[in-house]
Amino acid sequence: MKSAWVTAKKTIELIDTEYPKPRINEVTVKVRACGICGTDLHFYNDFPGGKPIPLGHEVSGYIHKIGEAVEDLKPGDRVIVQNHVPCGTCHSCLHGNPYTCSNIQTYMNDRAAMAEFIRIRRNMVVPFSGLDYTEAAVAEPLTVAFDITREARIEPFHRVLISGPGIIGLFCTTLARNVGAREIAVLGRRLHTLRGKKRAEVAVLMGATEVFDTDKPDWRENVLKKFPEGFERIVITSPPRTIPYLLDFARFGGCIAYNGISFSEETITFNANTFHFKKLKLLASHAIPNWGFPLALDLLSKKKIDYEKLITHEYPFDKIEEAFSTALSPDEGVIKVVVIFGD
Ligand SMILES: [Zn+2]
Ligand SMILES: [Zn+2]
Repeated sequence: MKSAWVTAKKTIELIDTEYPKPRINEVTVKVRACGICGTDLHFYNDFPGGKPIPLGHEVSGYIHKIGEAVEDLKPGDRVIVQNHVPCGTCHSCLHGNPYTCSNIQTYMNDRAAMAEFIRIRRNMVVPFSGLDYTEAAVAEPLTVAFDITREARIEPFHRVLISGPGIIGLFCTTLARNVGAREIAVLGRRLHTLRGKKRAEVAVLMGATEVFDTDKPDWRENVLKKFPEGFERIVITSPPRTIPYLLDFARFGGCIAYNGISFSEETITFNANTFHFKKLKLLASHAIPNWGFPLALDLLSKKKIDYEKLITHEYPFDKIEEAFSTALSPDEGVIKVVVIFGD
């Protein structure tokens, strides 16, 4: 069977390995769809670490084979593959708080989910129905949006600023609207490109009341003119280096939540006094363990979350390099690219 690994900058190899037979408490999933995430694009562009990197973690498929001890699933059942689960044995897990598990379990370091099959522990798959495979693959970014909006504690009548109109920012937009936010402003870059235009247009459909292009020289003045009192909540899905530029927009007592990982500058600086006197809060969201999968699959299947406009491109597995170029292209109206695997 073939699986996709980044083996050099801008190089993906489909590596042939043996069929991964499930062990006693495992299942082997026939992968049918896998979304391309920003992290995959970072691996592809930068090849950090210099060793082959497995791709994919937004996966759906069906159970192909089950291990001897697996009794509650059978071949053919549709499942998504969860990428991080709590260990169940550390101090946090044993004291009723798996959310702060210090020993999170993942397959992502040694197995590609952009693969024909993936062998995985039983507790890392969640069954679903009422969605096709491509639709189910966007449950993962939705769980990430759940986590950051929960951390941000958005309440009705809040003014919310969302930075980054990728799929996570767009899901956050719709979640903020569902909560009853008073106004939702979305910030994005290069909104004049086809990619940017598409995202700005979909942001409005998902609930944004204003969209600002941060490449325009007067964007800050425009935000302040429109929102002179600032925002009660700021949700940052753009890289963490944007945090210092966004703090000014927070209202007194405001809360800023961010979820990006910094791939370039790990250190950021901002004015500690302004932060202090405005009594701001800065919260990190990291959606591991992914607690939100059953909820995400339920909301998607009941069409309570508008996801259809977000899935813009699908490519077969053998065109994976093309899928990655499209995902990076400013000249395509691209939001989420999903790689599709034959049966
Ligand atoms: Zn991801
Ligand atoms: Zn644990």
